[in-house]
Amino acid sequence: MTVRKLQNYINGQWVESKTDQFLEVKNPATDEVIAYVPLSTREEVEAAIKAAKEAFWEWRQTPPLVRARYMFKLKNLMEEHYEELARIIVQEEGKTLDEARGEVRRAIENVEVATGIPSLMMGYNLEDVASGIDEYVIRQPLGVFCCIAPFNFPLMVPLWFMPYAVACGNTYIVKPSEQVPMSQTRLLELIEEAGFPPGVVNLVNGAKEVVDVLLEHPDVKGASFVGSTRVAKYIYSKATQHGKRVQCQAGAKNFIVVMPDCDVDKSMGSLMSSFFGSAGERCLAGAILMPVGDIYEPLRDKFVEAASRLKIGYGLDEGVQMGPVISRRHKERVLKYIEIGIQEGAKLILDGRNVKVKGYENGYFIGPTIFDDVKPEMTIAREEIFGPVACIMRVDSLDEAIEIIHSVPYGNAASIFTSSGKWAREFRYRVQCGNIGINIGIAAPMAFFPFSGMKESFFGDLHGQGRDAINFFTERKVVIERWF
Ligand code: NAD
Repeated sequence: MTVRKLQNYINGQWVESKTDQFLEVKNPATDEVIAYVPLSTREEVEAAIKAAKEAFWEWRQTPPLVRARYMFKLKNLMEEHYEELARIIVQEEGKTLDEARGEVRRAIENVEVATGIPSLMMGYNLEDVASGIDEYVIRQPLGVFCCIAPFNFPLMVPLWFMPYAVACGNTYIVKPSEQVPMSQTRLLELIEEAGFPPGVVNLVNGAKEVVDVLLEHPDVKGASFVGSTRVAKYIYSKATQHGKRVQCQAGAKNFIVVMPDCDVDKSMGSLMSSFFGSAGERCLAGAILMPVGDIYEPLRDKFVEAASRLKIGYGLDEGVQMGPVISRRHKERVLKYIEIGIQEGAKLILDGRNVKVKGYENGYFIGPTIFDDVKPEMTIAREEIFGPVACIMRVDSLDEAIEIIHSVPYGNAASIFTSSGKWAREFRYRVQCGNIGINIGIAAPMAFFPFSGMKESFFGDLHGQGRDAINFFTERKVVIERWF
């Protein structure tokens, strides 16, 4: 079987890149090359920006209700190709089929919310701000926006932004992660089938060089980034230097606090999914389990027992609960963190390093791994590992837990498991993290709420999704009016 060379989608055409640099896209469960992705040239990025700029004026004059109808068409096509999209995600990213189906559902939900643009985009007004003078706010699109996406949700993340941007009347360029470019390619084929006018949505494959052209170009008005904190800092500073709107959703180290009054048996499914779902490669994944007081021992024992029963394998195979990590390089990085944990004196009570999956000996698998006796100052307690490695850190009180949560630089998500409303409120009120879960292991905001994040997990002020997205993708123009 010949392996496909991916193309760019510019101005309504699929075009082959003129670059001589292609990267291999590999299935993480099999190590097989499944596509080649081009590192596109400067000229190709510029062509996409030009196409998006030229499409802008006509698109912004298209009535919002008509723009919304394109979103309805896209939604229907995504429903029709639901299973196919999920299978592509499994093959390029490695998560299980059920996890991939969940991703497709969340992706579609963003398209659904954007169909409400005629209402969402309305401004507001007040008569008689002074005698006979009226004042109102209108929202207007700005022009060309782009998204720079991470590997872990290849289909969904660009859809945290694109549907809102485009429904508001902007035009768009997607730059997928070069590790997982296939589901965006398929999505753009569906966008083409939905009949979006040429230039409204474009796709340019590549890596840093493509990003730099997008961020430096005067015709790009804004950028949405999702990825690691190191790259987020670079992108935030570069984009702002070039006068752009920018929102950067970044890395994480998420704590799960379990109070003594928690119902452990009912919570275990959520905890497993939080720590080991998507092989720990979620920005909302639990990283540190913090039992408070006496619940420590029973919780730890049940947690280890449940984790050791998880079925690891290829995401397309029946009954598999955890797939591989994204790449061989990433696997090595996670294994290095496990070594560091051991050297720093944490107790390895479940070791996933030597896991073997029959039939997939070359896959990048790591089994669920659990450290006990983790201390706040240890590297494994402070840095994002982004793999199936859980750290257990016992604390004596909720106050102590919150103090430790605040000592890490990240502020993406934190959860509490309790049956006390008082503890839950205290946690929600005080914890400096953008996404808070109460008896929820993965505090993932729905499409009509902003996907929040604080401290080094977010750079910017307006978040993705929800009303924040409408504000990010529009200018609020104020008109003050008097008629003689
Ligand atoms: P990454 O930062 O390595 O890459 C993200 C994107 O940036 C890719 O498209 C990549 O091509 C581009 N990029 C990489 N280096 C660059 C550079 N030097 N200059 C310009 N562009 C560059 O992230 P990743 O490994 O793909 O994704 C995992 C990370 O994403 C984790 O840290 C995770 O926590 C984070 N993440 C955060 C959220 C959130 O909402 N906060 C959601 C998903 C993932």
